Amino acid sequence: MKTASSCQFVPQDVQQHGLPLIHVQDVSCVFEGKEDVKAVDNVSTGIEENKITAIIGASGSGKSTLLKLIYGLIEPSTGEVRYRGWLVPTRKDKLIPGHDAMKMVSQSFDDLNLYAKVWDNVASQLSNINLTYKKEKTEETLQKLQISHLAQKRVADLSGGERQRVAISRALVNDPEVLLMDEPFNQVDAAFRDALQHDIKQIVAETGLTVILVSHDPAEVLAMADRLIVMKDGQIIDQGEPKQVYFHPQHAYTAQLLAKSNILSKEEAEVLGVTLENKTETAQIAVHQEDVSLNKSDNSSFRILDIKFRGMHYEYIAGNDDVSVRAVHFGKPNMAIGDSVDIQIGRHISFKA
Ligand code: ADP
Ligand code: MG
Repeated sequence: MKTASSCQFVPQDVQQHGLPLIHVQDVSCVFEGKEDVKAVDNVSTGIEENKITAIIGASGSGKSTLLKLIYGLIEPSTGEVRYRGWLVPTRKDKLIPGHDAMKMVSQSFDDLNLYAKVWDNVASQLSNINLTYKKEKTEETLQKLQISHLAQKRVADLSGGERQRVAISRALVNDPEVLLMDEPFNQVDAAFRDALQHDIKQIVAETGLTVILVSHDPAEVLAMADRLIVMKDGQIIDQGEPKQVYFHPQHAYTAQLLAKSNILSKEEAEVLGVTLENKTETAQIAVHQEDVSLNKSDNSSFRILDIKFRGMHYEYIAGNDDVSVRAVHFGKPNMAIGDSVDIQIGRHISFKA
């Protein structure tokens, strides 16, 4: 078992009480000169070993700051981060910031040497003590990320997706236990994203690596993550398995973020004929777009208000003066703006005030 190089002693029993690999307890972070906002506000969570955990949230919600707190790049204002029960050392304890068992791939590839070859970018992370090992390990890592054929190319000549693969190879060549990635697929063309996501999942399955990734793309995190952490205004407002969080969000914000859900007031829900179980306590409901069905009808007060092309599907907007909802439609539109429609709500999620 690897432990941090400079950390405070934690009694053995703390380590054995089933703590997750990384334990974040009541952590807050306030930046100097920006005391009015808590970038991270009293956050507690656990990161499980050999899993992919995704942190998702709107821009400015504190995702990158939480990632840096976990890595030890930022000192928490309150609370603590523990890795295998040991406090994660920060700048004040350590000359080179960043936990020894973790590696971080940043958004901008600023670690890469653009004018050096792919091979050298990766191999340079290993010592020269054992040159055979250095060669084999570099080869193996390039192979895992499927970029062996690019070994002799300069990074400057590669595409965004290829550069990201080099950055990940460089981070993984030393076998870190945890790989941290901040918006890793931003610069990767949509067509190549799936393949890279698949390869990362494969590496996690094969090697026991733990991955924490920050993203604002729901499709990405739902497909990739074993566990989701949803952030809003510096706080974690939802966390759990992707399906659980998608179908049973605790907050309207999560439903909107993950499912582009329709958020309706109690009154709007009633206009649509939704039966609310706990009416007095309900403040809002969420209806995922796929739970709205629209059917042509001659005697409805609702109409198709708009139809938007969304690439793989169309989005119908239907309603009247009091309420409108969005629904997904696959295939060619079978209705036109102005058509009279019945709106049926399949499943809804209630939120208290
Ligand atoms: P996200 O990654 O979710 O977009 P960040 O963690 O980058 O959000 O930022 C959270 C909040 O902290 C924002 O209000 C941002 O402006 C602020 N912030 C982030 N980094 C710094 C910094 N180095 N100095 C001051 N404020 C910062
Ligand atoms: Mg960020």
